[in-house]
Amino acid sequence: MSGYDRSVYPTFGISRTLLIALLFIGALSLLSLYLGFDAYLSDHPARASLYLLMGTSGFALIGYMFFRSRSTIERIFSIPQVEVVTTLECKTCGLKKIRPFRRGDYLFKEADECTRCKGKMNIVKIYGRERAKAR
Ligand SMILES: [Zn+2]
Repeated sequence: MSGYDRSVYPTFGISRTLLIALLFIGALSLLSLYLGFDAYLSDHPARASLYLLMGTSGFALIGYMFFRSRSTIERIFSIPQVEVVTTLECKTCGLKKIRPFRRGDYLFKEADECTRCKGKMNIVKIYGRERAKAR
């Protein structure tokens, strides 16, 4: 996939819920680990291993969820939201028209027929622009 700018397309809307969930689980896991070490130091090995197990499985869950969601995140980020368009201008009446790029388009080519005066339209510009986002 071609280049894209993450700062132009902030797409945190979908993953925000996931992020909050991950932070919540992360906090719980840290708390469990803390309680586990605390119990370990205060000579409660059974309780300590339970807390440590909770803590590590919490982090494992975070890793799992992050891995699962990574493909979704990559899909959102890597779709180039750009389409190539061709701008045509009528030599006779000056009418301008923008349409999707077609194979064989090149600058100053006589391409389409003017819809207003039936004259010839020249390609004056070919460029990429942001695709209108589907909703
Ligand atoms: Zn025209």
